[in-house]
This record gives sequence, C-alpha cells and structure tokens, in this order.
Amino acid sequence: MTTRLRIALQKKGRLADDSFALLKKCGLRFAIRGSGLLARVKNMPIDLLLVRDDDIPSFVANGASDIGIVGENVLVEEQLTHTNKLDAEIIMRLGFSRCKLCLASSEKSNVKDTQSLDGTRIATTYPGVLGRYLKDNNIKAKSVEMKGAVELAPSIGIADSICDLVSSGATLEANGLKAFKTILESEAVLINSTRTLDPIKKDILDKLINRIDGVLKSSETKYIMMNAPKNKIDAITAILPGSDAPTIIPLAGNDELVAMQAVCTENVFWETLEELKGLGARAILVLPIEKMMS
Ligand code: ATP
Ligand code: ZN
Repeated sequence: MTTRLRIALQKKGRLADDSFALLKKCGLRFAIRGSGLLARVKNMPIDLLLVRDDDIPSFVANGASDIGIVGENVLVEEQLTHTNKLDAEIIMRLGFSRCKLCLASSEKSNVKDTQSLDGTRIATTYPGVLGRYLKDNNIKAKSVEMKGAVELAPSIGIADSICDLVSSGATLEANGLKAFKTILESEAVLINSTRTLDPIKKDILDKLINRIDGVLKSSETKYIMMNAPKNKIDAITAILPGSDAPTIIPLAGNDELVAMQAVCTENVFWETLEELKGLGARAILVLPIEKMMS
C-alpha cells in the first residue's frame, strides 16, 4: 500500500471553497461529492479528510490527519479551550478567509468601549480567546457562551455586547451593532503537529509547501512590459514595485526607445502605471503570472 499524506479540510463553509481552490491551483486533482469523509487526490499520494473546521486542530494534534487548513481563530480557540495542550502549530499563512474577532455593541448600549465592559455580559462562541483577552486586560466582565447566532444576544437581553467574527461588518450592521475593539486578526493557516513525519509523507509535504508558496507568490507577482525612452531607464527601474533588474531589449529602427520587461513581486497599481507614463513609457502591459518556482 502506498503511503499517502492526509490533509484535513473544512467540508463545507466559508473556508472550504478557497481551501479546495488553493489545492487545485497546486495541481491536485480531486472531486468532492456526496457525504464521504475522505476524498482521494488522483494524481498525488494525498487524501483529503473532510470535516467541520472546529475538529481540524485536534485531528492534526492526535494524528488522525497529518496536516490541515483552518482559520487561525479556530486554531487559537481550540488551543485555549482544550484541557491538554494541543500539538498543532502553523506551518504557513495562506492569506485567504481573512476576518477579525471583534467586540461589538448596540448603538443604544452603555457599553461603548473596553473601559465600560466591567460588570457586563459578553456573548460569544469564542470563550477561549475572549477569556484570555479579559484576563490579560484585567477586565471583569462575564462571558456568556453560545453555539451560534451571537449577534442576536443583545436584542434578546442575554448580553450587553458580543465578541464575534467580523469581515465586512454587514452582519453586525444588519443587527444594529458596531465593533469597538478587535481582539484577534485571523486568516487561513496550514497546520501540522510537532510529531516526526514518516519520510515519504515528509517528501510529499515539502513538495506541497513549495507549490503553495509558488501559488501565493504568483498571485501577487506580475510581468510588466513597456516601451521606454533610453534616458529614463534608471528612473523607471526605480519605481517598478519589487523589481531590480529589468530586461532591456533594443527596438528595431528606433534609437530613442527600448523595450523593458520585469517581474514585479508586489502589486502593480494604476498609480504606478500613471507614473511610468509620466516618465515617457508607452504601450505598458501588466500580465498575470500563472506559476512560479524559484
Ligand atoms: P463548520 O460547519 O465547519 O463548523 P462554521 O459554521 O464553524 O463551519 P464558517 O462560517 O464556515 O464556520 O467559517 C469558517 C471559517 O471561515 C471561520 O472560522 C473563519 O476563519 C473564516 N470566516 C468566518 N467568517 C468569514 C467571513 N465573513 N469571510 C471570510 N472568512 C470568514
Ligand atoms: Zn465551525
């Protein structure tokens, strides 16, 4: 039987689609269907374990899965609420599913800032992270643990404020709530345990990490091409974001202009293009880079 690396992923939800998309961009071929717990990757020795996100840190810690993709918020919460220390740590940050764990209250509430929290009740599904925040800041508030629908707690009178995940703030606003403090910033992370991995699995993991790294880098990296006045090469090179050695190519039958091409490792904004144009650059093209390996 071949040794296969197992990755725990959220089966369905706000983390799932981006996790699947990342693995597909890394060249993994698989299909998620039905209620199966395991999906086989067809072209690599990898299996996907499809579960609820809350279970991912402990599955990685107890060896049910070798690695996992989970929100940092869930990782930290599970680490703080487990009786035994969870053996799960971040290998790399993945940049998607960004959100914040915030304290929020109704515009009509007396709780307006962290100073007014003493003696009040805060509803949350994150008792671990909230408890740590209250303790570290010596705030004497009571945490009211809920399993969901936290944003309704103030209106039904079971809490004075809430501690909940926020991304755009639209859900808060729809419930007449406003965030007044961020206590944790989160994004999706790749996690493993500190256990020594079987050497074959380690090779598969190293390859996967390299590919993820390439996918993350290439999503920001652009290839830029333009025609530029010869006497402006230095000035143009200086403003190309994250690039220091552009390729310079002569243009047939033109002594004043050259073609310049460069890989920019940072985002190329409209402002940069306008500056390039101001320096005399013409026919500026910005192209996406699909794959990268350095
Ligand atoms: P499960 O059924 O797996 O337990 P869930 O209901 O706990 O799912 P989701 O709402 O799918 O979880 O959110 C999963 C993760 O996605 C969150 O823990 C967080 O890291 C991230 N997340 C939450 N809200 C947002 C959002 N609005 N935008 C982007 N990412 C988010
Ligand atoms: Zn969950």
